[in-house]
Amino acid sequence: MVEKLCVLGSTGSIGTQALSLVEALGIKISTLAANRSARLLAEQCERFRPENVCAADEAAARELKTLTAHLPVKVFSGAEALCELAAEDGSDTVLTALVGAAGLEPTLAAIDSGKDIALANKETLVAGGALVTRRASERGVSLLPVDSEHSAIFQCLQDAASARTLKRIILTASGGPFFGKSAAELEGVTVDDALRHPNWSMGRKITVDSATLMNKGLELIEAMWLFSLEPEDIEITVHRQSIVHSAVEFADGAVIAQLGVPDMKLPIQYALTYPERKPCPADRLTIEKMSLLTFERPDEETFRALAACKLAAKLKGLAPCVANAANEEAVAAFLEQRIGFLDIGRAVEASLEGAPAKEDYTLSELLEADREARAKTREYLKRLERPVSV
Ligand code: MG
Repeated sequence: MVEKLCVLGSTGSIGTQALSLVEALGIKISTLAANRSARLLAEQCERFRPENVCAADEAAARELKTLTAHLPVKVFSGAEALCELAAEDGSDTVLTALVGAAGLEPTLAAIDSGKDIALANKETLVAGGALVTRRASERGVSLLPVDSEHSAIFQCLQDAASARTLKRIILTASGGPFFGKSAAELEGVTVDDALRHPNWSMGRKITVDSATLMNKGLELIEAMWLFSLEPEDIEITVHRQSIVHSAVEFADGAVIAQLGVPDMKLPIQYALTYPERKPCPADRLTIEKMSLLTFERPDEETFRALAACKLAAKLKGLAPCVANAANEEAVAAFLEQRIGFLDIGRAVEASLEGAPAKEDYTLSELLEADREARAKTREYLKRLERPVSV
């Protein structure tokens, strides 16, 4: 169980929910870090009294300094400080809840200094899975999944003897707001439509990823690394109610699942209290809530981002990093209303044409592949850009 926690991404959806749990769990906070929400960071400093606070954005850090002048907290700024704090702030665990591949370097820094990772930043594992898992096993640190599906799988694998015979994962997907729609119907959907998730309340980037099913593709790659499986051993099923958070199948065919209401507090808390369980403020599952559970196959013809992730998972090497970078750029362009919804999947697919085929890679090769894929995708998206009617 965590004693002292460093929270990277403390003002986002996962970060704020984690902080809502730590007091009751008696966990101390060493560091709070976010991108640019100075006001919320200052409020969090007031309440949680961390030793360090970091705003990646410099202007935000200046504002933060003024806002926290009366507190005994050290204020930092920039990506380098983030890595240093992740490594050397005296915490035993780092919750990585930053958005996107920006989480990679601080996560590696924390692993190298021997800290356990409560991993909420799936892009880290998607982009750099080989590197991250190798360094984690070299340093003997735990990667504790916070993603609800991966937490479910992790919970199902706590019986070590059964876990050794793991054959297959059944990864559940809510299907997002556009489940059942055809490509023609999706051509004109808006940002607001995509941000209307039926079950989960999450940040903007992951909500769009859920609508394109890119999120499930990223989670498939995340699961490959966390549980050492091949992509063909992970089956994705659309489960509209988000009650079964995922399931595992063992050698004898037994399938074990974890169920609960769709609330991130439980998976966040389990990563913090592991291997213990403590009372959690999330709602309880009732008979009514599980009276109708349905399971269907996803439509990869329409949701091309998922098909592209499956291809990237098979290609391995730097392909998942490239697909992730293309998606981050495309989602940003979609949120700015520069491209259409289906263009996101198109961009991710296009990014994999001629993606570098390299089984193993260094951090600098990874960062270079990420940069190159972003530049190429921006070029590709420019050709697709059109005035979007408001
Ligand atoms: Mg998830």
